[in-house]
Amino acid sequence: MTIASLRDLYVEQLRDLYDGENQIIKALPKMIESTESEELRSALEEHLEITRQQAQRLETIFEGLGEDAKGEKCKGMEGIIKEGSEVVKEDMSDTVKDAAIIAAAQRVEHYEIAGYGTVRTYADLLGEEQAVELLQQTLDEEKEADEKLSQLAEEINVEAEEGEGEEGGSEMESEETAKPRRSAKSTAKKGKRVA
Ligand code: FE
Ligand code: ZN
Ligand code: FE
Repeated sequence: MTIASLRDLYVEQLRDLYDGENQIIKALPKMIESTESEELRSALEEHLEITRQQAQRLETIFEGLGEDAKGEKCKGMEGIIKEGSEVVKEDMSDTVKDAAIIAAAQRVEHYEIAGYGTVRTYADLLGEEQAVELLQQTLDEEKEADEKLSQLAEEINVEAEEGEGEEGGSEMESEETAKPRRSAKSTAKKGKRVA
């Protein structure tokens, strides 16, 4: 597609956002599966539902413009999602993983906030009043999601730093507390063998 006018650029940017939303719809369920925090999970589940509505909103805008919704793959979103899902595959404690999921999700939200702010402004310049309203609604939702994630991070990041919910936490115990436990175990084994 040749981009000769601001309207062309507007359509191109909308397509980019539309592809981005669809990538998020595909990727979020896996992220949700990896979360440990109940609160984080429900926040992401809620945002997945909202994301589906945001994609539909864009379809409404394309209809109004008489334009096809399909465009090129959003490589920016692809990269952000790829980085996020790779870090989640790493072997880490539950709370550190939750912190990593928040970090990835906030990058997604900020990228969307940038994109929606731009198209909202273009729609305004182009006199697309209904689109301005729809895009502003999405922009507000993305900002809200970002704020919610910041709120959740306040607790989760601290828990991650403290090592709460960490597997293999016994490794962090001092020699004195670890030793009696070991001997208690071996005593129990011996007891079993005798019995
Ligand atoms: Fe979105
Ligand atoms: Zn893009
Ligand atoms: Fe979003």
